[in-house]
Amino acid sequence: MTGVDPESLHGQAMLRVRDLRVTFRTVSGPVRAVNGVNFELDRGEILALVGESGSGKTVSSLSLTRLLPRNAEVEGEVLLDGRDILKASNSALREVRRNRVAYVFQDPISSLNPARRVGSQLVELLRVNRGMRSNEARNRARELLSHVGIPGESRYMRAYPHELSGGMCQRVMIAMALATEPEIIVADEATSALDVSIQAQILELLQRLRDQFDTAMVVVTHDFGVVAGIADRVAVMYGGEIIEIGATEVVLSNPEHPYTAALMMSAPDSSDEATTELFMIPGTLEESREHAGSRCQFSPRCPLAFDRCWSEWPKLKDRQSGHAAACHLDGEEVAAWLDSGGEITVSRPA
Ligand code: SF4
Repeated sequence: MTGVDPESLHGQAMLRVRDLRVTFRTVSGPVRAVNGVNFELDRGEILALVGESGSGKTVSSLSLTRLLPRNAEVEGEVLLDGRDILKASNSALREVRRNRVAYVFQDPISSLNPARRVGSQLVELLRVNRGMRSNEARNRARELLSHVGIPGESRYMRAYPHELSGGMCQRVMIAMALATEPEIIVADEATSALDVSIQAQILELLQRLRDQFDTAMVVVTHDFGVVAGIADRVAVMYGGEIIEIGATEVVLSNPEHPYTAALMMSAPDSSDEATTELFMIPGTLEESREHAGSRCQFSPRCPLAFDRCWSEWPKLKDRQSGHAAACHLDGEEVAAWLDSGGEITVSRPA
């Protein structure tokens, strides 16, 4: 368990993830992908899970409805309105997947059936999941398309996926997610295959739908621009753990973990045309996870590492209300390093 009481970060939330651990059995032995993750989600809230590939953000989000391959062992609790999804019967799990938690994935074109018209895919979903009759489902499909900014005219209802742009297909996927009137939408890199202007439109659409339907969202991304653009709170993941969590404004203006600061420095800033070089985080995630033992997992890559980091695993500790970070340093050293653009070596605690 982490060193912070999850209840102290958030009140009684609709979704509570407790000490989530996911291990994959592989031919080379067990691989721990998620290691003691805790987070909460309120109704109508948008939480971003951010980190590099392999940080555990997608595996965590798929665990919410046990959408993992058979070689995955999942421990902990995923409490939806107090009921543990990880222990739910198959029929209760089907109900959660059909009507309560919906996913929008990265590649909308391959997520849609290429051989069927967009409208008929939506109509079938409404008939199967909502038990609607044909006419009712067709009318509702038109309504859903108009909610996501696609005129519910016949030409769009009758279009095949390959006849629509990537942005339009992603709108269709969001309409399909909305069809089940879910309480939670998980958007996994939902905008990363789209160009910047379409990405902004999709983020705006997700926010508008949240406001309209009070749908909570878990947004999985590697992009701090997406986090800043949409999320109320952000959880930064590294090596299967949450290493910093808090309100987006607080974390982005005052990151207290060197990894968060390093990710921010390595992200291109479209408003700063003068910047020609980006900060590179040295090493790889895989290298730093090997033989982590009791040390800080980030220590082999951390420019601010000092003696204590090599012998003591830093627990996630509350820094101020709702903001927690897992680092032996306090925020001032990290802020000084961030202000220098990663140039200076800060003085370490004795
Ligand atoms: Fe870096 Fe040490 Fe903090 Fe880990 S505990 S992030 S190695 S300064």
